Amino acid sequence: MILANPRGFCAGVNMAIDALDQSIKQFGTPLYVYHEIVHNRYVVDRFKSQGVTFVNELAEVPNGGTVLYSAHGVSPSLRQEAKTRQLRAIDATCPLVTKVHLEAIKFAKEGYQILLIGHADHDEVIGTMGEAPAVMTLVETVEDVEKLPFTADSKLAYLTQTTLSVDDANMIISALKKRFPQLIGPNKEDICYATQNRQEAVKELAKEVDLVLVLGSQNSSNSQRLAELAKLMGKQAHLIDTVAELDPAWLLNVKSVLVTAGASAPEVVVQDLIDYLTRCYGAKVETHTVREEHVRFPLPKELRLVMA
Ligand code: SF4
Repeated sequence: MILANPRGFCAGVNMAIDALDQSIKQFGTPLYVYHEIVHNRYVVDRFKSQGVTFVNELAEVPNGGTVLYSAHGVSPSLRQEAKTRQLRAIDATCPLVTKVHLEAIKFAKEGYQILLIGHADHDEVIGTMGEAPAVMTLVETVEDVEKLPFTADSKLAYLTQTTLSVDDANMIISALKKRFPQLIGPNKEDICYATQNRQEAVKELAKEVDLVLVLGSQNSSNSQRLAELAKLMGKQAHLIDTVAELDPAWLLNVKSVLVTAGASAPEVVVQDLIDYLTRCYGAKVETHTVREEHVRFPLPKELRLVMA
């Protein structure tokens, strides 16, 4: 068994989880989180068992209640709604998502039409679109590029969701640049370091194995991309929340396995899988490090102020 490194929690997810743990300590329950704190069933279930309520609408939070925004960020109209309703809001948006929001505000102020490359209905995309809805157009595929209503004279800028497939995003950006040579983009890539590093590790290590197992939830964009990447390399690959979802049929005639985890999957589910494969199949574990990560983000300012 090859254990990919880096894998699992990124700095944004660590910060969001720490923020929710700290909020429970400081404010107790009832405590509300707008959408899933991170897209992982195991993590969400853990917090539910501690009395946290996850809501899809701010209207579900009682007036004066405490609400935490997830790592994926929210739109300005939602922040305003929270203010009007006098909710205590704690913002656990990942700073790398905030970076994309700030770029959207900047481009909109400068008069650009913004092409946001991302997946419709993803929490992060909804939040980013909300920064400048009048000038924002979502581009999901290379095919979408041909349908765009803009011309060679349009002032155009692109941004991307942070958790896309690097290869897919590059294909869309190339198609956009070909059709609109005037297109400009962010100074530094929006696809975050954690997404890129986990994809790079799969690209490098999947070559060596028969089967790729990715720990993560089905609604986790970056976890989905890891399984998809391995499949594109011609490998059998599966995305599972926990070892309980492992189908022994996948292991028939398999001599080597790559295990990795999306940025929202906790290490405990990885260790459970390792224990199972070691115990039942005599797997020998080798960790292969493709890149070191040392990124850390501070707690949201609302919690830092209370702690001080
Ligand atoms: S995957 Fe990237 S953008 Fe998302 S929370 Fe982690 S570091 Fe932030």
